[in-house]
Amino acid sequence: MTRPTLILLALDESPFLELGKRALRSVGYETAIAQDADGLARALQASTPSLLLIGERLRGQSGLELAAAQLERFPTLPILLYAEKDTHAIAKEVLRVGLSGYICPPLRTDDLVTAVQRSLARARHLGDWVRNEVGRTTASLQRQVNDFDTIFNNIADGVVILDRQGRIVLINTAAAYAFGATPESVFGRPVTQAFPHPDLQSMLGRSAEDGLKYHEINFDDGRVFNAHYTLIPNVGSAITLQDITYLKELDHLKSDFVHTVSHDLRSPLTSVLGYAELIGRTGPLNDHQREFMGRLQASIQNITALVNDLLDLGRLEAGFDTRREIIQLENILGYTVDLLGGQISAHGLNVKFHAAPNLPALKANPLRLRQMLDNLIGNAIKYSHQGGEVTIELSAEDGQVILQVSDNGPGISQADQPHIFEKFFRGENVPEGVAGSGLGLAIVKSIVDSHQGRIWVESTLGQGSSFFVVLPAHI
Ligand code: ADP
Repeated sequence: MTRPTLILLALDESPFLELGKRALRSVGYETAIAQDADGLARALQASTPSLLLIGERLRGQSGLELAAAQLERFPTLPILLYAEKDTHAIAKEVLRVGLSGYICPPLRTDDLVTAVQRSLARARHLGDWVRNEVGRTTASLQRQVNDFDTIFNNIADGVVILDRQGRIVLINTAAAYAFGATPESVFGRPVTQAFPHPDLQSMLGRSAEDGLKYHEINFDDGRVFNAHYTLIPNVGSAITLQDITYLKELDHLKSDFVHTVSHDLRSPLTSVLGYAELIGRTGPLNDHQREFMGRLQASIQNITALVNDLLDLGRLEAGFDTRREIIQLENILGYTVDLLGGQISAHGLNVKFHAAPNLPALKANPLRLRQMLDNLIGNAIKYSHQGGEVTIELSAEDGQVILQVSDNGPGISQADQPHIFEKFFRGENVPEGVAGSGLGLAIVKSIVDSHQGRIWVESTLGQGSSFFVVLPAHI
């Protein structure tokens, strides 16, 4: 059943009010009456009249002003003004305020009914048009949302959008599938709860602390993802996940190849070095021959060191480093400082050492940690300027032992910093004549990784570098 059309009459008590009421009712409209500004506001709030007929004055207030105010709140409400006199000024004002029209005496009942019907018809047309437009815009928005959904879900990379509280507000199929879930099952949940993967948790924990952007997420079935974390202003953050399993497999193939070649090179190198040393014993050498032999031996020793580094790296990456003992890092540090003493004095360096008292022990491979310290401190010495300063600090925090090796040497450019732990990478800062293969830090990183630790560098070009290693203490 359709509701009867309600006409609200905001008119002072007058013969016209009675006349109007009767005329409108006689053709089937319902009427309500408001006799002042408050009554008008209340009536509009409580009921939904189809038209408002308002007098030029209502209890002394300007009907035009009241009508204008109501139009602000109900822009589609048709309003007719009842004016005492038809003047040019009234016509102008009605147009200015945006009313449907006005009526004025002399009036027959038919004139009033016709004016009301015409305004209602126009309002209906306007209503239809607005509904159509809204429908059209909504359909187009809906299409765009659908297109976005399709694109979002067909992106091969995983994308997760989090709100500021870390809850999943948007996630595509690739991201959900990577963690063995569906988008529906994790939507709205805190990401740390939905995906309790340790690598992801560690990335999110660290991102908040030090703005780390990249992290590898390793799954037990061998899949590896490169995760990227970005803050999005006013929204929260985004995590993108790129499947790099095949790149990792290629990397393993390459490492296997390098490992095999290094292994096969080692025996002939040992015999070349052996024979080179024997030559001197076969008879006296002249000065030239001695000099050449010396260079030959130095070169072979360099190649042997490189081959040994490659073999070490291969073993570490293959996870062969399983030896674990309870050790104190400061004891191992003593051996390193002894070994490097010659180089320290050759560079005229001032080496400062500070260890916090009662450092916790580590469960680690002492040989590997020695190698780590040799490389880190060796680099600090190697890259320092003559007379520079090297500081080595050991401290403990939250069940972790922290090593910091700092120098005031050449520093590492921002562009190079993300690459220095890669194999064979040598920075643009390396001064001429400073030897190296670019493997030292790759070995250090593998050692730290195999001990479930973390390593990073803080460095400013021209001012120096600090390497930090954090290793879990033995409980
Ligand atoms: P190598 O020292 O044989 O070049 P590493 O893997 O030990 O290789 O280091 C990689 C690169 O990192 C170096 O080539 C150098 O550019 C940079 N680097 C490492 N340690 C330092 C340091 N203490 N000061 C300045 N640059 C360094």
